[in-house]
This record gives sequence, C-alpha cells and structure tokens, in this order.
Amino acid sequence: MAANKSLLFLPGDGIGPEVMDEVRRVIDWMDQKRTVTFDITEDLIGGAAYDAHGTPLTDDTVAKAKASDAVLMGAVGGPKWDVLPFEHRPERGLLKIRKELELFANLRPAVVFDALADASSLKLDIVKGLDIMIIRELTGGIYFGEPRGVETLPDGTKRGVNTLTYTSPEVERIGRVGFELAQKRDKRLCSIDKANVLETTVMWREVMESIKGDYPDVELSHMYVDNAAMQLVRNPKQFDVIVTTNMFGDILSDCAAMLTGSLGMLPSASLGAEDSSGRRAALYEPVHGSAPDITGQKLANPLATILSFSMMLRYSFDLSDDADMVDQAVQNVLAKGLRTADIMGAGKTKVSTTEMGEAVIAELDALAD
Ligand code: NAD
Repeated sequence: MAANKSLLFLPGDGIGPEVMDEVRRVIDWMDQKRTVTFDITEDLIGGAAYDAHGTPLTDDTVAKAKASDAVLMGAVGGPKWDVLPFEHRPERGLLKIRKELELFANLRPAVVFDALADASSLKLDIVKGLDIMIIRELTGGIYFGEPRGVETLPDGTKRGVNTLTYTSPEVERIGRVGFELAQKRDKRLCSIDKANVLETTVMWREVMESIKGDYPDVELSHMYVDNAAMQLVRNPKQFDVIVTTNMFGDILSDCAAMLTGSLGMLPSASLGAEDSSGRRAALYEPVHGSAPDITGQKLANPLATILSFSMMLRYSFDLSDDADMVDQAVQNVLAKGLRTADIMGAGKTKVSTTEMGEAVIAELDALAD
C-alpha cells in the first residue's frame, strides 16, 4: 500500500467550499478504491481567514502548507472584502502562500474536451483535440523587478518605471521544469521570448540553449511573443509545452484558456523547487475565482477543481494512472451530456454542482470495474 499523502485543503471563499466538497468525494473514492490514501487537514484562506483571524493567511496556515505534501485551494475573494485595505484583501492570502512556498512555476494546461469543442470561440477544426501546457515563471520578471514606481520630474511630468529582470539561475530552474514536463508529454518545448528587442530575454534564450543538451529527447524551439500570440489563435495545436516569462505567461495563458471555451473547466498547478529528498512544494487550484454571482446556488462547475486534483496526482505524486482515470471520468461525464450551467448547450442535461460530483464518482466506479 502506498504511503499516505498529506494534503492541506484551503476551500476559501464564494464557490470555493462548494467545489472543494466535490473533490473530497473523489479523494474519498481514491482512499477506498486505489492504493494511495490521503490525510486531509483543512484551514482558512482569503476572506474566510480574515473574518476569523483578521488576516487573509495566518502564519500557522503557512506552516501547515509547508508541512504538507501538497495544497489544494478553492478560490478567494468577494464583494464583502473589497472595501478592506490592500494588505487585508483575500487575494493577498493567495500571493502570500505563493511567496512563502516559493512557487516559481505556474502550470496552466489548455485542453479542449471533445464534448465541449463547440464552446470555443475558434473553429472546431482548429481546437478539436487541443492539449497544450503553458509554464509561466511566477516569482520574477517585470512584476517584481526593481526599480519600480512612478516619479514626478522637475517639469511636473510623471515617469513610470518597471524593470524586467531575470538571473540565469532563475531562467535555468523554470527552463528545466519545461524540459522535464516535455519529456512526460510529446517532447516538444517552445520557449517564448522577445529576444529581438529585450536583452534580458536574449539571456533567457541563451540559458535555454545551454541546458538543452541535458534533455536530448526534447526538441527545443524559440518564438517571439508577438508571433506566439498569433500562432495560439491561428494554429494552437502546433504547441506541446510552452515556457515563458511571468508577464508573457500571464497574457498567453489567459489567451490559451479561452481556446477551451470555459473558465469552469480550467485547472492549474504552481510548483516550487525540489528539495534534497526530491520533494517539491506545490499548490493546485482552479483558474476561476470565487464567483460571488452564483455562490450558494449549487450552480458552480466543480470540474476545474477536480482536474486540479488530477494534476496533483500527476505532478506531485507521479500517480499518472490515477490521474488518467480522473481525467477519463471527467471526459465520460461530459460525453454523456451532463453539464453545469456555465457549459450548458442545446440538448444537454443540466446538473447541479453536487450532481456533477456524483456523476464523476459513478464514472470512476465504472472505470474501476
Ligand atoms: P470569477 O472567475 O469568480 O467569475 C467570472 C465569471 O465566471 C462569473 O460569472 C462566474 O459565475 C463564472 N464562474 C467562475 N467560476 C465558475 C465555475 N466554477 N462554475 C461556473 N461558473 C463560474 O471572476 P471575477 O468575477 O472576476 O472575480 C470574483 C472574485 O474572485 C473577486 O473577488 C476576484 O478577486 C476573485 N478571484 C479569485 C481568484 C483566485 O482565487 N485564484 C481568481 C480570480 C478572481
């Protein structure tokens, strides 16, 4: 029997607790039917933590996150807390946990499920079968570079400054995540930069070239970010794994997300560095927010969070068979025409958050037989 995995559950605000309840079902099912078992600790983040402790993330919760094998989060935020000063806002809790766990690699898959291919804003033949992975550097680059700010010059005009900065070790560690992921997929890695204009990304490209010899089975290519934006909507299936800077990744991953047509279907992972025992800090969460407009109505789509758990099985625990099973169960549920309101289409069967979770369990049962 595989050793227990320790998970920290942070349901958060709005629909966060609703979608996390459905993941619990999947985890309970795994505990009973598969070889892996999970010990779950639950804690507060975001507005819920502010209401209880006056801060969106306590140090105690950070300590629990550091002691866990992986963290699964729902979502944070809501109008109730929008009036708070910036440092108390729910979103600060999320930024703090990313920083404390030093999560430098953000993985955003963009997968088009066959049953939902017509939900994309692009033509069916362009997106059908799409399966790409975008890796965004999350802790460096222009979002954190110094100097930064806005100054007033002697003549009264204002001057704003942000600084794009990367060190070669920062590029190397995100580059290696890209190569390693490509090795587990179709073995093609595209590094995206703006090396025709920005010196920092000339260095980025050089570092990528300098480490590619360690991964002879992976084909490395480079593309300028403006071209990449065009290619993502012209012919997205040309990509397998993309690795890029914080800002380029922020923009391109949202663009790729929309190729799939639905926010309620998009999982994500944020990974830290490997320690000497090969363990990585990791936070898994759906891409969507707390959806205050539908909170408490059982309308939320839990699939993005269930797919985030599947990413955890794959990337934190190397349980790709179990992850494949969860992904297949989701595919089957969709193929049977079950839809939450956000992905509803003509002739489909509308289900609640709970019914969607139950349907995934029924498919897992069928797959395990
Ligand atoms: P949102 O993602 O919460 O919602 C956008 C739209 O998508 C809404 O109409 C919502 O009902 C719908 N939606 C989102 N997730 C869904 C799901 N699983 N099933 C069905 N429909 C879904 O974005 P927003 O409205 O801009 O933000 C609401 C709050 O969430 C804000 O406080 C924002 O700061 C916060 N937020 C948090 C995160 C996070 O926790 N990672 C991310 C984005 C926004």
